[in-house]
Amino acid sequence: PIYHRAHFLLSAPHINVLPDDLGIEVAFAGRSNAGKSSALNTICNQKALARTSKTPGRTQQINVFPIDDTHALVDLPGYGYAKVPEAIKRQWQAALPEYLSEREQLRGVMLIMDVRHPLTEFDWHMLDWCRDLELPLHILLTKADKLKRGPGMATLQKVRSTLRNDYPHVSAQLFSSLKRTGIEEAHAQLDKWFGF
Ligand code: GDP
Repeated sequence: PIYHRAHFLLSAPHINVLPDDLGIEVAFAGRSNAGKSSALNTICNQKALARTSKTPGRTQQINVFPIDDTHALVDLPGYGYAKVPEAIKRQWQAALPEYLSEREQLRGVMLIMDVRHPLTEFDWHMLDWCRDLELPLHILLTKADKLKRGPGMATLQKVRSTLRNDYPHVSAQLFSSLKRTGIEEAHAQLDKWFGF
């Protein structure tokens, strides 16, 4: 698929300095350490597109990965990174809903969760913000290789049933960067949002 063409364009410290001509955007969000960088790398079939090594400077930036001139993946700062000062964390808590509401070309949000710790407090904020904006959201329950098939499926069903009634624009799947499972399903979701 086309996602292997994704390449790093820039890091923006704030949504105010994001270029407005990226075309259609899909944002990747998640709690720090959930496996977001690995998922981006896996989805794009690249070893080091998004850095999995953590430096506070870079992880608190918005990283932009265009696929072509009119489609881009936008990697939002991981939430809850321990080494980030409180003030910066608060700044981001304010900036995230602003990004979600102001990027007109944003078509969807990929929310990355560790399958062993789904639906954290931050995840609920994201779910609520996206619901208020009627913005589609797809959950990757990643590190699925850490659970056996039965418990993994049980977690997926639990997440789906928890969200079914009140979050109709949300879908969810299992994913593993280590075992490279769930990639086709993730691509299919991205294809739908991007119009590929
Ligand atoms: P991020 O902070 O959300 O970008 O998380 P990373 O992608 O850097 O991953 C955090 C840690 O989880 C790293 O040690 C990864 O090697 C590990 N990890 C990420 N994805 C997977 C996965 O699918 N399976 C397993 N077993 N470990 C993973």
